[in-house]
Amino acid sequence: MRNAKPNKESHDANVMPKNPTRAERVQWHSEHELACGCRPVPASLMLDVAALNKKLDIRRSN
Ligand SMILES: [Zn+2]
Repeated sequence: MRNAKPNKESHDANVMPKNPTRAERVQWHSEHELACGCRPVPASLMLDVAALNKKLDIRRSN
């Protein structure tokens, strides 16, 4: 894999809140997956993260 090491800059810019809500975790993992992806999205959040990514993709391409 090209990005074997965590991308420190995107980690510093994308800090998980202390007591994240589910929505905050979904948002964090969505951004993290695009920016870094040093760890996989938890299975319990995967569908929500995929849905959010799709939404963001649609927004970007319009
Ligand atoms: Zn990372």
